[in-house]
Amino acid sequence: MEHPRADAPYPDRRSPARAFRQDFRNVTPSGMTLAEAASVMGLARKHPASDPVAVYLHIPFCRSICAFCIFRSVIAPAPRIAQYVQALRKEIALYGGTEYAASSSVGSVYLGGGTPSLLTAESLAGLLTTLRAFLRFADGAEVTVEASPSSVDAAKLTAWRAAGANRLSFGVQTLSDRLGGVLGLPQRSGEALDALRLARGAGFDNVDIDLLYNIPTQSMEEWRDTLDRALEAGPEQMSLYPLNPAPHSLMARMIEMGQLPPPGPVTLEVDMYWAAKSLLESAGYVQYAPTNFTRLPPERRHGVLSRHCAEGGLLALGACAHGRLNNYRYRNLKDVGDYLHALAAGRLPVGSGQSLSRGESLSAHFTAAIRVGVVDIRQFRERFGLAPAEAFPDSLDRCIQKGLIRLAEGGLSLTEEGRLWWKGVQSEFRSDPPAG
Ligand code: SF4
Repeated sequence: MEHPRADAPYPDRRSPARAFRQDFRNVTPSGMTLAEAASVMGLARKHPASDPVAVYLHIPFCRSICAFCIFRSVIAPAPRIAQYVQALRKEIALYGGTEYAASSSVGSVYLGGGTPSLLTAESLAGLLTTLRAFLRFADGAEVTVEASPSSVDAAKLTAWRAAGANRLSFGVQTLSDRLGGVLGLPQRSGEALDALRLARGAGFDNVDIDLLYNIPTQSMEEWRDTLDRALEAGPEQMSLYPLNPAPHSLMARMIEMGQLPPPGPVTLEVDMYWAAKSLLESAGYVQYAPTNFTRLPPERRHGVLSRHCAEGGLLALGACAHGRLNNYRYRNLKDVGDYLHALAAGRLPVGSGQSLSRGESLSAHFTAAIRVGVVDIRQFRERFGLAPAEAFPDSLDRCIQKGLIRLAEGGLSLTEEGRLWWKGVQSEFRSDPPAG
């Protein structure tokens, strides 16, 4: 991989950040009983309502599979999707009967996938009704639905809004029809722009769009053109990601067989990043995280980050969903059939999990906090009993030396270069979790 400069801090920006231990313990191929889950996740304990919980619901279905897809999505007929929604409602009810859920307050709900917009309006309303029946929503709780522009219409959007959804995240990816073909997107660019207009008409005033850059064969001019058209449409937030085709995706196979060139060199990717940042900031957007730009005031800057940053925990529901409750990280069963089977048997579909060590908790807290703002050193010490420099002496020193993190006014934050090389920064803190 070509470096952008001789002093680039990491070889590339694409490799996923190293996760904590991958070898989840307590693998349970048929799910867990409620009692087993309650014991490892602390579900019998009260949770302070002042520490809101994020809820994530995973909808693993798509109408077609995009060429680059990195997610675990399947194509399923409507009855299978309806069956899945019933199982999700059962999973909500199982958690909802615990002391943990009874005492918690929900700060945000995110329906992701997959393509949640494939759900019928009734299914989506049913899910939100079940959530509200079992969990207390905080005032102003944000309810986001991830949507494909090709699977929404005015009636559906109006029904979602009436059911309590107040934020949309559209998977637009590109506004070039040529590149849409390269990506194998289900929609044309005109459909994506129409979807944004329909969202406005349905009363949504918080719309995020995802865009990909450094798509194979994409030129800088095409990237700028997509950004210009997106700015014209005026979403409240934009999330920009360099394309990283999944290893077993159709796109990866086409690249391997020489039918498609790979994404451009990292120099082009970095140029595209800076070009986008400059265009968006000139148009009044503020970068509030390495991949996220907004024109909303700070109190409304949420985005996809809340589920990673929620200090109160993440209640993740649905096949293959990853969550974290009371310092226990878990992953639900990946296979939809296994997931349905576990719930039919009255078991929680938790497939595997592990308690985070103190070092992993410190790393998770630090990286989540610095991703979206400033880590206050005094507060960190009060909470964990040691300063960040004591918790991560090597990683922090390396990042400061490389100019990726700065210390100012009692806090640590990412520099502009640190945002650009965020995945490398994140890996530094995960590869060397402190003993604490
Ligand atoms: S819409 Fe998203 S989840 Fe579905 S196939 Fe395309 S990239 Fe994958």
